[in-house]
Order: sequence, then structure tokens, then C-alpha cells
Amino acid sequence: MSDETQGKAPEAGAAAAGSDSGPVSSQGSGQSSGSGSGPRPGGRPGGPRPAGGPGGRGKFFRRKKVCKFCTEKIDAIPYRDVRLLQGFVAERGKIVPRRLTGVCTTHQRRLTRAIKQARNIALLPFATRG
Ligand SMILES: [Zn+2]
Repeated sequence: MSDETQGKAPEAGAAAAGSDSGPVSSQGSGQSSGSGSGPRPGGRPGGPRPAGGPGGRGKFFRRKKVCKFCTEKIDAIPYRDVRLLQGFVAERGKIVPRRLTGVCTTHQRRLTRAIKQARNIALLPFATRG
């Protein structure tokens, strides 16, 4: 057995990229084979994609079925509590309908009055346009 080092040097210099200037002149007169709708081989593997519908639903994710004031047993809604009222007022100053807030009708009415009272003493902004 002879110890042969397998130092195989690659032959550098195989630059075959010469100046192969072929004729680019298209001499095909009237040779327009319309290869538009051809049967593509292969197809699509996998199968039909599962139809995932858009799950965008509900801007307000504050969904409480139970009235907040009923749960906290707040009978009279303090109109001075701006932070409390702001939770039921939209950004534009509109009163959020109770379908979105979940406030019962009784408290919604009191809430509305409280918000209007707060507006009059400039604790809450009126409905701003725009
Ligand atoms: Zn209530």
C-alpha cells in the first residue's frame, strides 16, 4: 500500500465563455406558432386549498352581556366620573349604543343623561365631526 495523497487539483481555466456571437437575425418570416394555451405538465400537487374565510369580525371586542353597572351595582351613574363615561363614548364623542356595550336599558338611559350632563360641564366633548 502506498500512501497516495489524493490531492486532486481542479483544472482551472475552463473558461468556455468565449465570444460566441451567433446570428441573432430572426429570419423566420411567418413562423408564428401560437403557443399560448398549452397543456402544462405536472399539474398542481397537494390538492385544493382549504378555504379559510376572513375572520375579521367585530370592531369592538368588548362584549359583555351583563350590564356593567348592574354587576357593580351602580345605581346612579356619576357624571363626574369621566373615565367611566369615556368607556361608553366613542372617539368622536358619540355615545356608544348599548348593543355594543351591553348596558341594560335602564342604565343606558342613565348613562346617556350622565354623559350629556358631563358634556354640559365640559367634561366630555360633544360629537365632533370629521
Ligand atoms: Zn344595568
